[in-house]
Amino acid sequence: MERLSEWSNDLMRMIYPKVCEVCGYSLAKGEDIMCLHCSLDLPRANMHNEQFNIIHQRLAGHAPIDKAAGYFYYYKDSSYSNLILNAKYHNRPIIARLLASRYAQEISNSGFFNDIDIILPVPMHWIKRLRRGYNQSEAIAQGIKNVTGIEIGKNLIAKRGHSTQTRKSSYARWKNAQNIYAVTAPEQLESKHVLVVDDVVTTGATLLACCEAIHKVSPTTTISVLTLAVTHLS
Ligand SMILES: [Zn+2]
Repeated sequence: MERLSEWSNDLMRMIYPKVCEVCGYSLAKGEDIMCLHCSLDLPRANMHNEQFNIIHQRLAGHAPIDKAAGYFYYYKDSSYSNLILNAKYHNRPIIARLLASRYAQEISNSGFFNDIDIILPVPMHWIKRLRRGYNQSEAIAQGIKNVTGIEIGKNLIAKRGHSTQTRKSSYARWKNAQNIYAVTAPEQLESKHVLVVDDVVTTGATLLACCEAIHKVSPTTTISVLTLAVTHLS
């Protein structure tokens, strides 16, 4: 039976070869999302051990942030941006899940996850989620859970949608994101260490709004953040 499924996998690979999301070349057996070459060349940010890295700087606000980790740098014109774009807009949340698992594996030896109690994905307003069919941040949370076993909480909710952030200034983004997020059952987060996860950190407005919403209702909660990508601000 196992041989049969292996054989059908090989057949599927011949008919629909899996390709690297970055360079478009066919993937070898055992590879997923990225070929070995693109995986080695990934512009890793390696900031999970830095005490005050760029994510901390972008999230400087009313909520103290303990640890901050970002997997790789996001440049708009780089083909690595396909990883995020396909996960977010092209119906491929599996990319977000697998990348998150990879990242979790890569940094788990550093002890980054040791004291984390709950993973909280940045929420999406339910209408938007219904339209898209998924929330890529939930896929990231699932990818981390698959490696670390840490539970995913549903305490963060989006009370309303927000207009697109893309063309706004940092201040306008922050104003726009404020009051969107709320926390349900805050008593579950008391004295816990939560990891808020999102796909990309740009100005940090969305993450900051989530962290501030948590801190407001549960000041004893320790908050850390993790994103797959970190944009370079021009
Ligand atoms: Zn490749």
